[in-house]
Amino acid sequence: MSAVALTINGRTKLTGLFGDPVEHTLSPAMHNAAFTALGLNFVYVPFRVPKEALGSAVTAVRALGLAGVNVTVPHKEEVLPYLDHVSEEASLIGAVNTIVNENGQLKGYNTDARGFMRAVRETGFDAQGREAVVIGAGGAARAVCAALALAGVKRIAIFNRTYARGEALAAEVAAATGVETEALLWEELGRSGTGVLRAAEIVVQTTTLGMHPDEEGCPLVSGEAFRPGQLAVDLIYNPPQTRFLRLAAAAGAATQNGLAMLLHQGAAAFELWTKCTAPLEVMRRAVFGNARL
Ligand code: NAP
Repeated sequence: MSAVALTINGRTKLTGLFGDPVEHTLSPAMHNAAFTALGLNFVYVPFRVPKEALGSAVTAVRALGLAGVNVTVPHKEEVLPYLDHVSEEASLIGAVNTIVNENGQLKGYNTDARGFMRAVRETGFDAQGREAVVIGAGGAARAVCAALALAGVKRIAIFNRTYARGEALAAEVAAATGVETEALLWEELGRSGTGVLRAAEIVVQTTTLGMHPDEEGCPLVSGEAFRPGQLAVDLIYNPPQTRFLRLAAAAGAATQNGLAMLLHQGAAAFELWTKCTAPLEVMRRAVFGNARL
């Protein structure tokens, strides 16, 4: 497919991102490259939407006839009551990251879970019957736990700084999917938790520890918990190699950073808006080319 120049005219369909902050987002580069490559008359624009403006921003999606938007921090959970319909996956996760405007009806989806699973499958990981550890229990962890449970893992152990939040997530995932779950104390991560981590085939770091500018942040003090044959995933992509990933790689584990999930959640959103197959390689080049590698 040959690339055509992006032209804005009276038929251009508008998509974008609602979040705060949005200055460092890679999504416009990824989506606009994809629209251009397929010759689709769409454009993607980031909008900084402060917390108190979320309701009016969603009203504007209907009023201005936007084709749809992505939703990011801090609105992923708060946006649910403003929508006409929420997908089963997004309801299970309790968060929406993609809105589709179908003739004024706003439908909410969560493509983070699908994006995460597509990303880890690229490494050859098969979730069926595996043991997983998830570090963190925020919005991203909810999507990761739902994805792993729906993909057939046997067990998920969750470590979170605020134990009650990890405990609530473990209980919800078990009740909704029947997968065995356990919430563990944050303080055990470097102690008895090491055995739980070593036993797992996949360890997913979903906290903000290690994210720019806190680049030395890491939930683990050593790489003792890692081993060859394991997959260590960090959802952070800035920096591309967190301390968590460096510890895992040094211990012989396979690693993946958050760019692959970012790419695949974006591709899934693109498909919901355009009903076209996402040009994955074009989007991958846009994301990886713009990331600070
Ligand atoms: P969130 O809902 O705010 O959750 C933050 C998580 O980090 C919570 O578990 C929180 O623990 C923990 N945390 C924060 N500061 C901590 C500290 N100092 N020590 C220990 N734990 C700490 O955020 P989110 O939406 O889940 O996002 C989390 C990360 O995932 C971000 O880095 C985000 O960029 C990334 N992400 C990546 C993608 C992708 O496509 N690659 C998609 C979504 C998110 P408490 O519960 O104790 O507060």
